[in-house]
Amino acid sequence: MKSLLDYSFEGRNILVRVDFNVPLDENFNITDHSRITAALPTIKKLLDDNARVILMSHLGRPNGKDYKFSLQHIIDYLQKTLKTTVSFSEDCIGDLAKNKARNIKNGEILLLENLRFYKEEKQGDINFAKQLSELADVYVNDAFGTAHRSHASTSIIASFFPNEKYFGLLLKDEIDNLEKALSKPKKPFTAIIGGAKISGKIDVVVSLLNKVDNLIIGGGMAYTFSKAMGGNIGNSLVEDDKLELAKSIIEKANKLDVNLLLPVDSVNANDFNNNADIKNSDITSVQGGYMGLDIGEKSIQLFSEVIENSKTIIWNGPMGVFEMSNFENGTKNIGAAICRSTNRGAFSLIGGGDSVAAIKKFEMEGRVSYISTGGGAMLEYLEGKELPAIKAIL
Ligand code: AMP
Repeated sequence: MKSLLDYSFEGRNILVRVDFNVPLDENFNITDHSRITAALPTIKKLLDDNARVILMSHLGRPNGKDYKFSLQHIIDYLQKTLKTTVSFSEDCIGDLAKNKARNIKNGEILLLENLRFYKEEKQGDINFAKQLSELADVYVNDAFGTAHRSHASTSIIASFFPNEKYFGLLLKDEIDNLEKALSKPKKPFTAIIGGAKISGKIDVVVSLLNKVDNLIIGGGMAYTFSKAMGGNIGNSLVEDDKLELAKSIIEKANKLDVNLLLPVDSVNANDFNNNADIKNSDITSVQGGYMGLDIGEKSIQLFSEVIENSKTIIWNGPMGVFEMSNFENGTKNIGAAICRSTNRGAFSLIGGGDSVAAIKKFEMEGRVSYISTGGGAMLEYLEGKELPAIKAIL
């Protein structure tokens, strides 16, 4: 793997694919800077080298050119944070971009307009990739969040830089941390998978069964497992077409001697609403008219014990509807158990938008080992898939 740190890039045009897909409020203020912060080490390294840095990213899901999704909303923040001139190209390809790229000074930045203003970006169009590549001598990919996508700027473009393509520092860090969990993890190794539905996470659950000692399943998907085992789940979230799959996961865990932990109790509400009437129950006897929105105290205890005895922990997906204060307890307590275990020397890796949002909500960011910037990319990496963006620069 070619790391940036082993090279100096003075005076060269470096095209860096970053993930600046940050949330903006209605006045276009950035409400969470994490993704920009994560890309700073790479950008600073290149600025310190006196390179000419060209940054490209997507922002949101625009349908053609749309001011709402313009990357110009982040220029001021970049300029303030990096203390250098940041010029902007209103078009990411073509003569305008080429002229601007030619005129950047050493140690300065050119930010390109949102790549997804062109549908060719997501289509992985080779011509579009070629036009981007003409702006620079060197290509760096530092966008882990889109590493599982074969888009023009994330993987197709790399072929135009056969000898000048590099892993950014964030991308390398993400891979190093995922590998820490996946290859030779310290045992016991525990994976915690939660969130709304099982459908988006089947592949990762099945693949993790071959690697972990303990697999904890919480969140909405737990009710599909409960129903598969004959439980009454009231109005809880359920995927009826996944009942057989849930059974087969239980059987596979048994066969592989993996300790599969499902919630034993549930916090239920008569409406999807923080002010709804709340009743607790066993996971197999949710009251009629009620839906399970969080794991109960017994489950918290059961899960916490396993987590605190683990040496490697990965977590993706909340244990309940943590966005509502009456159903945050499970996620908060599981987060706290991970922090305690980390404090005692375990390696903990958290990923996926919602688990990261939960960690932030409960102010636990500094108390886990690593927070991944990728949701889908992290899941695919955990599944053992080769991510196109990584393969392209190997
Ligand atoms: P995912 O994107 O699949 O990781 O799902 C995250 C979402 O799952 C969060 O917004 C949670 O509010 C939601 N969630 C977690 N537990 C439940 C549950 N028991 N019922 C409904 N939604 C849930």
